[in-house]
Amino acid sequence: MPATPDLTVPADLLPADGRFGCGPSRVRVEALEALAATGADLLGTSHRKDRVRDQVARLRRGIAEVFDLPDGYEVLLAMGGATAFWDAATFGLVRGRARHYVFGEFSGKFAAVTAEAPFLADPDVVESRIGTAPTVTPAPDDVDVQALTHNETSTGVMMDPVRADDALVLVDATSGAGGLPVDLSQVDAYYFSLQKGFAAEGGLTVVIASPALLERIDELAGGDRWIPPFLRLSTAVTNSRKEQTYNTPSVSTIFLAAEQTDWLAGRGGLDAVVADQRDKAAIVYDWAGERDWASPFVTDVSERSLVVATIDLDDAIDADLVNDVLRANGVLDTDGYRKLGRNQLRVGMFPAVPASDLQAYVATVDWIVDHL
Ligand SMILES: *Cc1c(COP(=O)(O)O)cnc(C)c1O
Repeated sequence: MPATPDLTVPADLLPADGRFGCGPSRVRVEALEALAATGADLLGTSHRKDRVRDQVARLRRGIAEVFDLPDGYEVLLAMGGATAFWDAATFGLVRGRARHYVFGEFSGKFAAVTAEAPFLADPDVVESRIGTAPTVTPAPDDVDVQALTHNETSTGVMMDPVRADDALVLVDATSGAGGLPVDLSQVDAYYFSLQKGFAAEGGLTVVIASPALLERIDELAGGDRWIPPFLRLSTAVTNSRKEQTYNTPSVSTIFLAAEQTDWLAGRGGLDAVVADQRDKAAIVYDWAGERDWASPFVTDVSERSLVVATIDLDDAIDADLVNDVLRANGVLDTDGYRKLGRNQLRVGMFPAVPASDLQAYVATVDWIVDHL
């Protein structure tokens, strides 16, 4: 690989904040300052007492407000992030067989988990070509869970979470939540980690649960299958209703996510935020469309993610080199997903990233390409 040229981007071109990663993603500095301002009052105090439980309550209330929960839906907190939730769901939500829509790295990972479970039938895997979104269709009769991914973070493709039959609909919304539109009446579990759109840190899962999901949790918790205690969703239900978690959570994650949730609600809730996301995404996709050396990777305009943009570069321009120069100038983490193996930029456009920084990002890339 060629050495990184020593290029200094003019300071007035650079984004105000250089964090454009797709996970962990930008945490608003205002939220970090609010966390620091809690001083001796929050971190380092008991998660079973009011100070911390008030933050858990604030987060659960905030999620309910941002998503305007349908009647009977509840906000659960489960430990371990989306990856742990796949294990919890395999034990505690899939009765006999799951269908998975696989269109990239993350959607494929959950499918691999249910495929290994000795107590489940082999999953029904519906694959879509990389860079395209699947369409949800009715599954075979023995399928009782349909597993969707709102935003495939590895490819920058978003899909519509819809119900096609009477199986439970589980949607991994780890990168989509808070930035993409969703009709929760179509979904039974809308679950996500908090280090992407919710601008906090990893390790905790929010699950927006429908009444049918809560019933399935009870059904399998009361059945014959052994479920490891840490992964019992029935325990997450009991604890969430008491504004606490099963074991010690990262209190800073809870606090930062609650700050972000209040901020999203203050901006007018999900619909208003999604409208902004459309404008922000247009900045990046239109820019790529206008350059003869760049193009959006996802060809179907309606499948282009509003939160993660993937931009292919012409072979004459080495994306690794562009990213090296960006990094040397403090603009971070826009590398393509390694396993995709494309000459690509992948840009996090999560709600915490303002339009002005995306404009500055594309102007910075223009400058670098001019000077390489
Ligand atoms: C980042 C990501 C995950 C993994 O989240 P963890 O918190 O690391 O478990 C899962 N699914 C999607 C869609 C993601 O973007």
